[in-house]
Amino acid sequence: MARYTGPVCRLCRAEQKKLMLKGDRCKSDKCAINKKRPAPGKDPKARAGKRSDYGIQLREKQKLKRIYGMQEKQFGLFFERALRMTGITGENLFVLLERRLDNVVYRLRFASSRSQARQVVLHGHITVNGKRVNVPSYLIKAEDEIAVGETSKGLVIVKDALKEFGKSGVMPWLQLDPDAMKGKFLASPRRSDITDLADIKEQMIVELYSK
Ligand code: SF4
Repeated sequence: MARYTGPVCRLCRAEQKKLMLKGDRCKSDKCAINKKRPAPGKDPKARAGKRSDYGIQLREKQKLKRIYGMQEKQFGLFFERALRMTGITGENLFVLLERRLDNVVYRLRFASSRSQARQVVLHGHITVNGKRVNVPSYLIKAEDEIAVGETSKGLVIVKDALKEFGKSGVMPWLQLDPDAMKGKFLASPRRSDITDLADIKEQMIVELYSK
């Protein structure tokens, strides 16, 4: 399936949740969710009342998939990989998603949204352990060093995004040196560490794929 290129705020309105797809705008008063604009189409309350178990599970999967900016097929492959790992599948899925290079670049504040991080990676501005990596789905592992490439350190979008660091810091499983524009993935997070996505019910996604 083709990548969604329509207005992304519409996706948040459909889920009635801030999916944080537009960088700084998501934290501003301009956010459509802050303005409490209704979901596109039907009245969300009426629609929620009619939802089947399947519909609720599907929405939960769509939310997570959209947050991490993934296409259906790739998300399914991540789920299969999570299923093969030892431990709890839903938690494994989160760990795999958090290990994606585009996500780590976003979490390290080298980009203001995951979609911008994806572009930064695709354009070859990021190195992992000193080597350029331009694959957004590349899986980072513990102790990997992620940096903005030497020739990319003047990029305005990266500098602007890094200004955010002073305000909000990075997640506890990461370490950032903002002056050197580099960071480290200390260890894979536990599910409970991913506090900004605490409301996602990953068990529903597991149930959906188990049908
Ligand atoms: Fe979603 Fe961000 Fe748009 Fe708000 S501004 S609706 S969080 S994409």
